[in-house]
Amino acid sequence: MHTQPLSVITSNDHRLHDPEFDIYSGSLVRRFEVPQRVDRIREALADGPFEMKPPTAHGIEPVLRVHNPDLVDFLTTAWKEYTAVIASPQAVIAETFIHEGLVEGMPVGRPPLTNGYGRLGWFCFDTSSPLVEGSWPAALASVDIALSGADRLLAGERVVYSLCRPPGHHAARSAFGGFCLLNNAAIAAQSLLDAGAGRVTILDVDAHHGNGTQQIFYQRGDVQFVSIHMDPEWNYPWFMGRTHERGDGRGAGANLNLPLPVGTTGDHYLTDLTAGIDALNAFDPDYVIVSLGVDPAAGDPTAGLSLTTDDFNAVGRVIGTIDRPLLIVQEGGYQLHRVGADVRAVLDGVCAMARV
Ligand SMILES: [Zn+2]
Repeated sequence: MHTQPLSVITSNDHRLHDPEFDIYSGSLVRRFEVPQRVDRIREALADGPFEMKPPTAHGIEPVLRVHNPDLVDFLTTAWKEYTAVIASPQAVIAETFIHEGLVEGMPVGRPPLTNGYGRLGWFCFDTSSPLVEGSWPAALASVDIALSGADRLLAGERVVYSLCRPPGHHAARSAFGGFCLLNNAAIAAQSLLDAGAGRVTILDVDAHHGNGTQQIFYQRGDVQFVSIHMDPEWNYPWFMGRTHERGDGRGAGANLNLPLPVGTTGDHYLTDLTAGIDALNAFDPDYVIVSLGVDPAAGDPTAGLSLTTDDFNAVGRVIGTIDRPLLIVQEGGYQLHRVGADVRAVLDGVCAMARV
């Protein structure tokens, strides 16, 4: 049993990233990925064995261990560049995206050097991830929350919860999207390796495939990626997340996708999750990072799975059987009336099973 309070790393800097609209599934919508998500989660953890702790600043170096410096440069300067060419930028969405078919048989080209709006479609791969003035500091603060959680594992804590926002698992090495700017879980994994770990597994239980995390580590043998998610035949990110994607080169066999059909309920989900954890144990990592999305919840506006709050408690109990240090990093989950209860259910389940 877990007897000490669980550290919850959280801050208010995420509020700086709050675009009002994005284009989701072909329609202009009010954002699902809003600051109130963090409020609801904190409220749900207020009366339990949880201890809220602020992150510490880690600077840009850990980010550059994972992300392309050109992407980082774009994110840090985008707002300034937008305001130079757009009269009153609000939530800026790209007009043109670099596309494989656009340059088929030709040199790939390059983005414009100075026009930030023109550069946007080079670095962002979808329409659901507009940047506002405070997006960069919010993204960096979210990374610090993940890294501060990793620090606590290195200091000997058994389980830590990093309440990251914006989320991260869709962000690839050189491109951002899917509500994600920087890949918090991937940066935390790299920091653990840089601190001396031999192997890390990222177990992604968000309803959507963690395409960014997969891409970052696809050819790496020191980070295993296991993802259980909606079949991309039916849901974002559409092009990745299928079973034949098993890793390449030194990463061959270290990538496992477990796609689920529309409407999947708790029993089926738990069966596949257990298979994923069997693969994790076979990889024998020193640390495990859980990319925790609670958007497998029934009714989530971005997904189509059917988990109940009790199912999330069972998910937590299965995760809690992993006998290794666990960093739980928040990803998605978009129903404000239940996101807090669902996260609480997972954490209660983990704490009930994890040995200190
Ligand atoms: Zn998701």
